[in-house]
Amino acid sequence: MVTVAALLLVLCMQAGPAAAAPRPGAWSQGPWSELFGARSRKLRGAALPASVPLPKPRPPDAPASESEKPAAAQQTPAETDKPAEQAAAPSPSACRLALSEQIAIAPSIPDIHGAGGCGGEDLVRLEAVVLADQHQVAVRPAAILRCAMASAIADWIRTDMAPLAASLGSVISDLDNFDSFECRGRNRVAGAQLSEHGRANALDVRGVKLADGRSISLTDREVPRETRESVLHSVCARFMTVLGPGSDGYHEDHIHLDLMERHNNYKICQWNVWDPMPQVAPLLPAARPEEAPPREVAAKTDADKTDADKADTDKTDAAKSDAARSAAPAPEGRGVTAATKKRR
Ligand SMILES: [Zn+2]
Repeated sequence: MVTVAALLLVLCMQAGPAAAAPRPGAWSQGPWSELFGARSRKLRGAALPASVPLPKPRPPDAPASESEKPAAAQQTPAETDKPAEQAAAPSPSACRLALSEQIAIAPSIPDIHGAGGCGGEDLVRLEAVVLADQHQVAVRPAAILRCAMASAIADWIRTDMAPLAASLGSVISDLDNFDSFECRGRNRVAGAQLSEHGRANALDVRGVKLADGRSISLTDREVPRETRESVLHSVCARFMTVLGPGSDGYHEDHIHLDLMERHNNYKICQWNVWDPMPQVAPLLPAARPEEAPPREVAAKTDADKTDADKADTDKTDAAKSDAARSAAPAPEGRGVTAATKKRR
């Protein structure tokens, strides 16, 4: 028993210091870890994978990958939202993309689906055409058109009409829109085939205004024939339908333009460029000299009195009295003035 007890004591004495030795060592590493947290973390990080090869390294990697996944997830919804919005609203047409603000001020408007096929899609409100030098040609009033028709108008103004105005020594300031989208039959005839205006595919133009104040009315005979013919050739090359004076009686004061699709791309160009009105002799007499009008008025007054006397004998006395009144001031030198007042 004594030997057993002694052995136990010896073991306890040896085990005690042996077990206590590592503790101070462990605690001594504690301050290190607190003072050099980075190192301790590196050590821990390095120690953990070393001590536990697979399980523990993965959790740290897992949170990292999860943190990345949410980041990606946050980007994904943001990216998916845009496609969702684009999916809700139809993607812009090629025409819409091409009709940029460098070409025209033409914001998109909602589609119109009316009765009888009236309306259209890919519509814009053409407010102005932007020239190459950024000058804007206002469309007054703004025209509701399909994008393709608005683009055709913009290209026509930019490519043909702007140079025409330049040849006249000015620039275009306004495009006179007589009619654009309107749900109606052709030529406003009830029951007639739907007009291209009803499909937002037509524009009626009366003319253009120039920055210097001049106007070019396309149907005005007084506008030089060469100018009107230039416009005629331009629009008939660009549009599927051109109707003007001499076409059907409905287009004597404006030009109808549209992009109606027909078989074999058949075009209609009906616009007679009338010659200027013949120069006839003026109906009114030439400008009177300053002294002429009063004399002429006085003479006519006397003639009127003579006619009145012949036509109405009952008023002979009155006419005579009037003549007496008008003659009375004459000796005073104011006969002319009195006669003029009487005529008014
Ligand atoms: Zn028209």
